[in-house]
Amino acid sequence: MRYAETGYNLEIDLSRGNIERVETDQRLTELHLGGLGTNAKILWDGVPPETNPFSPSNLLIFSTGLLCGTPAVGANRTIVTTYSPQTLLMGYSMMGGFLAPELKYAGYDKIIFRGKSPNLVYLWINNDKVEIRDASHLKGKGAVETSELIRKELKEPNAQVAAIGLAGENRVYMASIEHGRSSASRLGIGAVMGDKGVKAIAVRGTKDINLARPAEFMELCNDVLNYIKVRAPNLIPEVMPILAGLGSPQEMVHYDEKWHTENFMWGNARTRRKDFWNKEVEEKWKGTQESVRTRLISCYNCPMKCGAIISVPGLSTYMMKCFSKLTYTMAAYSDLEFGFRIAQRATEYGVDGFSTPQVMAFGLELYEAGILTDRDMAGMPSDNEGRFYWLLDRIVRREGIGDVLANGTYWAAEQIGKGAEAYAHNNIKKHEQLPLKLGMLNPIYFLMYCTGEKGNITQIEGNFPQAPFSTMELKEAFVKDWVQAPDDKFKKYVLDWEMRGERSMPFYPPVEACCEIVDWQEKMHHIDDALGLCAGLSSFPLKPPYHIHNLPAFISAATGMDMDEAGLTQVFNRNRNLVRAINVRRGLRRADEKPPEDHWKKRFPELEEKL
Ligand code: SF4
Repeated sequence: MRYAETGYNLEIDLSRGNIERVETDQRLTELHLGGLGTNAKILWDGVPPETNPFSPSNLLIFSTGLLCGTPAVGANRTIVTTYSPQTLLMGYSMMGGFLAPELKYAGYDKIIFRGKSPNLVYLWINNDKVEIRDASHLKGKGAVETSELIRKELKEPNAQVAAIGLAGENRVYMASIEHGRSSASRLGIGAVMGDKGVKAIAVRGTKDINLARPAEFMELCNDVLNYIKVRAPNLIPEVMPILAGLGSPQEMVHYDEKWHTENFMWGNARTRRKDFWNKEVEEKWKGTQESVRTRLISCYNCPMKCGAIISVPGLSTYMMKCFSKLTYTMAAYSDLEFGFRIAQRATEYGVDGFSTPQVMAFGLELYEAGILTDRDMAGMPSDNEGRFYWLLDRIVRREGIGDVLANGTYWAAEQIGKGAEAYAHNNIKKHEQLPLKLGMLNPIYFLMYCTGEKGNITQIEGNFPQAPFSTMELKEAFVKDWVQAPDDKFKKYVLDWEMRGERSMPFYPPVEACCEIVDWQEKMHHIDDALGLCAGLSSFPLKPPYHIHNLPAFISAATGMDMDEAGLTQVFNRNRNLVRAINVRRGLRRADEKPPEDHWKKRFPELEEKL
């Protein structure tokens, strides 16, 4: 008997319309755990390194994590993996919600698409019955709308659906895959789904998942729930609101946006507005948020409620989480109401909320600089917000200048020329980064940016504090119950880290310590991505319920495998090396890993070289 996993993948050849249920090799689970790990192995073995992302030979893999569908709190991530049209490297993006557990209950660990369908289709998995169905009537429909239409058509209100919108159909490089209150947005995986002719996946599953030692496993789950109850309301002092508690950033709960609006860059990742936030803005934005947020919601089996149902008058309802609340607002120098309105359209189109606003602001910057002309922008309204809607519509339809911008700032700049490259200034590995630009180089961030392969916000977040605490009292209070730290040397780094003087950034933590911290933080991300755990309860915030000391027990009790910290570290190293090997084989070189030139104002070339 297989425990925690089903032991079966669905292999779908879209060119031939063939569906196969394939038994998997348990040895691969022992080597890679599941999720991202086994996805990487399948890509490494099955797709030649020179494969174009839009070739029929490219695979698009939807994977559950090893613990998805078990009672482990927050084990609900679907890990989508393919070769990215944006970076040309391995792209993997995670979504929360309900799809992965439902897929496990239907009896499958992964869906592996190859080939291309000649017509637009959707996949319907109803336990053992799996069909490729015509989706021509869904062409051009919004991602949220598509999910609703499919549920109605199937007469299955409990089916879980992941769908692309117009952006994915048109192979826009920022295209996301939308699923309820979540999305797999980064690295253009929605474009690959569209290229394969798959509009959506719908799943209904009603089977059981077996656990090797259920009583022991339930006890571990209860420990996590009890910890969340105590930890979540007890915020860590001096830590920014979104990271002081637990969960994916609690943007739908918080009103206080002082930190984001004053520290992140506005426009095309250009301008910090240090005095933006005041009482008046706070009151206005709070009113806006309260008027559109109808209910807070969670992913499968999680009490954290990171998302919200958003109902803007005159628009259809959608779900939002995390920082996309502000990305459109800040790119357009507008206000929160605009952000909520345009995010509704963007969600239906299915686009990445980090890249898309930056690409639009980039287009407008080129226009203001005279690099794009009235001819390029013929028909664009004159008002600021109207311009963003206009650009969004052009991009997802690949019309006119939208066809160029649809490839993201790096490729668009190359195509436009005339000095446009200087305006695509916020990329790593050809991909737009967070518009977070700081004064002093942070050596830990620096390394996370360079070595991270994920291309999303969590590539630079982790369990180590992002800045020193101001007093010894606070430092001691932080390390006192810091059970998550791999060992005591990390506590010493926190205790010794100061805001000024010799033991401050950028030379403290020292290079070797930075490497250890980043190694630990990446390890946690890789373990989450193999297990299907939400980063918001593990690798993302400070002091999460899951950590390197308790995760081996979860894996052992769930699967029956003998797992300890050393074994888990070995799996992590294997998985990370494999992802890196795939990317090196695809052409990744050290020069590609540089953070953008203007990412920090104060740079230290010698130190950066050592890092
Ligand atoms: S912490 Fe938030 S994002 Fe993570 S599983 Fe729970 S509700 Fe979803």
